[in-house]
Formats: sequence, structure tokens, C-alpha cells
Amino acid sequence: MTATPRTALTIAGSDSGGGAGIQADLRTFFANGVHGMVALTAVTVQNSLGVQGFSEIPVDVVTGQIKAVATDMGVDAAKTGMLATAEIINAVAKTLDEVHIGRSGTPFVVDPVAASMTGHALLREEALEAIRTELFPRATLITPNLDEVRLLTGVEVTGPGTQREAAEALLEFGSEWVLVKGGHLDAAQDCVDLLSDGESWVELSGPRFDTRNTHGGGDTMASAITSSLAKGADVPTAVTEGKRFIERCVAESYPLGAGVGPVSPFWRLSSP
Ligand code: PLP
Repeated sequence: MTATPRTALTIAGSDSGGGAGIQADLRTFFANGVHGMVALTAVTVQNSLGVQGFSEIPVDVVTGQIKAVATDMGVDAAKTGMLATAEIINAVAKTLDEVHIGRSGTPFVVDPVAASMTGHALLREEALEAIRTELFPRATLITPNLDEVRLLTGVEVTGPGTQREAAEALLEFGSEWVLVKGGHLDAAQDCVDLLSDGESWVELSGPRFDTRNTHGGGDTMASAITSSLAKGADVPTAVTEGKRFIERCVAESYPLGAGVGPVSPFWRLSSP
């Protein structure tokens, strides 16, 4: 008999193009040796050119999925991606408390997905406030990109000073750690992310790759971090491992369709 692997749960939407959402999350969990499980929140209609629309899953089906896997199979770490509506966010928050995911229980990563990189909304407008008030206080780590930072705090990050200002503003919402990703900063510079719990400040620097094919990058990084947390890593270690993982995924991303191609978690499977 083979040993049971660690488990990770993604609470997120489906991408019909297979590059982002739960498809990216499951591939990433798998590539990192973790058994992936899903609570589907929404079905998007999309391809490499963008999101054409989405339909959300009934709230009791979303929370039912979380309870079903948590009470039977166990969850070693969880993450949220696209949550679509305030109603889903409020119900997910309540359910996470019931199954002891988040804050002092099972490690819980919140990727505050608001829009696709092609600029299409993945969250109904009133839901942003619910992410701030219901999810951030329960989160072990939140992982906004710079567009999400602006939407959530109003801070326009232009360099290290404003990146720290944004991190401080985000920590006010109550998460244990924040990772302000700098991937969308100056294209001529290395990609520097800032990780903090309000006491320690860690700058994680890595190369920037010359590719337009970065679809699913945010989901993949958050899932890689969640995989490491599921295997017992502390937050700074998990984020460092997640950053190294996403760098390779971006380096080996590929063109697909007429628009933006996906990052590739396959490298780990094909590398020795
Ligand atoms: N579709 C779904 C279901 C997602 O969860 C996300 C990102 O979280 C996207 C699309 C957008 O991905 P990207 O911004 O990398 O294009």
C-alpha cells in the first residue's frame, strides 16, 4: 500500500481554457505531490482571448463540497481563488469556521481574485468588501497582485516604498501574512515580491521572463504556496518555494490560441 499524500483544497472557479482557476490549482497540487480537492464556485466561459461570462454555483453546493471533503478526507491546507459573489464569500467564511480552516486552524491562503489579466471582472462589485471583512481576518496569507492591491486599499504601488505601504494597509484587514506581488511592476527590473506579518519583512527577488504567456500565473503561485503549507512548511518557506515553482512555470509557459497562453506546471513532471 502507498502512503496517503497530504491534501489541499481549492475553493475557486473553472476556466474552460484550462490555464487558470481550478484547472491550474489541481495541476499545481499534483505537480507538488499533494492530493487536490475542489469546491467549485463558478463556471467561466473563456479562452485565450478572455472571459466571455460566468455563472456561479448555488451557495449550498459550494459549502456542501467544502464540508464533504473536510469531514471525510481531511484538508491539510486550503486556498480561495475566484469566489464570484458576496453571498458565496459569506457562506464560505462561515463554513470554513465550522471545519476549522483558517486563522488558528488549517493553513488558509486567500488569493483575492477580482479580474482576469484581460480585464474581465470575476467578482461581482459588492463582493470586494466581503473579501476584506470575511476572508482576510481568517487568512494565514493573502496574495494580491498590484491591481488587486489598488482595488482593495487604493494604494498605487510604484516601487519598494509604496509596496511596503500597501502591505501595511492590507495587514490592517487582519490576515496573518501578506504577500504583495510585484510581478506587474517595472518590466525592466527583477520581479520583487514583499512578504510580511507586520514584524518581519522579506523581499523575494527573482528573474522576470520575456513572455506574454502568463495566464494562470497568480492561481499557480498561490496553489504552489498552498501545497508547501499542506506539507508542513512555514509561511516564509512556502512562499519561497512557491516563487521558485512559478518562475519555472513562467519560463516554460507556451502559446495556445490567439491570445495569452498559460504558464506550465509540467516542468516538474518532465525534469529529473
Ligand atoms: N479564470 C478563473 C476561473 C480564474 O480563477 C482566474 C484567476 O484567478 C482567471 C480566469 C484569470 O487568470 P489570469 O488573470 O491569469 O488570466
